[in-house]
Amino acid sequence: MTGNRLFPLPDGATVCPLGQGTWRMGQSAARRQEEIRALRHGIELGMNLVDTAEMYDNEELVGEAVRPYREKVFLVSKVLPSNASYRGTKLACEHSLLRLGTEYIDLYLLHWKGCHPYEETIRAMVELRQEGKIRMWGVSNLDTADMERIVLLPGGNGCATDQVLYNLGDRGVEFDLMPWCAARRMPVMAYSPISEGRLLRHRTLVEIARRHDAPPAQIALAWTMRQPGIIAIPKAGNVTHVEDNFRSLSINLTEEDLYDLDTAFPAPIRKIPLAGW
Ligand code: NAP
Repeated sequence: MTGNRLFPLPDGATVCPLGQGTWRMGQSAARRQEEIRALRHGIELGMNLVDTAEMYDNEELVGEAVRPYREKVFLVSKVLPSNASYRGTKLACEHSLLRLGTEYIDLYLLHWKGCHPYEETIRAMVELRQEGKIRMWGVSNLDTADMERIVLLPGGNGCATDQVLYNLGDRGVEFDLMPWCAARRMPVMAYSPISEGRLLRHRTLVEIARRHDAPPAQIALAWTMRQPGIIAIPKAGNVTHVEDNFRSLSINLTEEDLYDLDTAFPAPIRKIPLAGW
């Protein structure tokens, strides 16, 4: 089912537009095996992008989950802004590689804007790439003005993505950041695509879900991925949620669905500063 939806990235890799988030995984020993099973099931279904971060304190769990599938997984991790000096970025990456138990990270992101100059972080990213420790680098939680700066810095045009908050209830990025990324053919990674579960009881979403005989999460995810260039990374802590989410790849929203969603969750008509971190 994912075959015709595979998404090309700048270096020729392909990922499923539906990835797997992991924030808050690894917090409970009792849930560990279920979370590993959920991630592995998602990978087996074809959801090959797995997103973690040094901040999530779960890279060991994620590494264990992806190890049997390493070659087909597209592994994403992130450096904390407080570590994102030149030396700090390189060291943080080494630590992530050790915790993940892998020789390379497919995509390494600056988690959000911090106090270290972008020039330093980018220089480290470029070197990590040359050393084969990461395949691509990108950023997260950066608004349009920062993206414009990033791509003009030495090495900055290698930035592969911006991972941002995007879901039906948080559409601000549609006004300028998404068009900016689209013009550069830069994919956007949508985090919290079901708003950490908050969207799921919304009346309109529930009604549209009923039309499709599907759970609301599938509608929220199908909407997030409705246009090319967007990769959604929901976090699902069990196999049932993984399977639910996977089926969103087969949902075709109708004109009526899209109209109703636009009415309930209006698109931005002016600049809204990026929400999130
Ligand atoms: P999310 O994916 O919008 O929502 C996760 C919540 O939804 C969990 O409570 C999960 O419950 C529930 N859920 C998932 N599938 C469901 C389904 N089919 N039916 C009902 N409930 C379902 O929120 P998120 O975790 O904030 O965002 C996703 C990922 O994006 C994160 O895990 C992380 O990898 C990334 N992220 C990045 C940043 C950043 O700054 N770059 C910030 C936030 C998140 P269960 O766990 O019980 O399945």
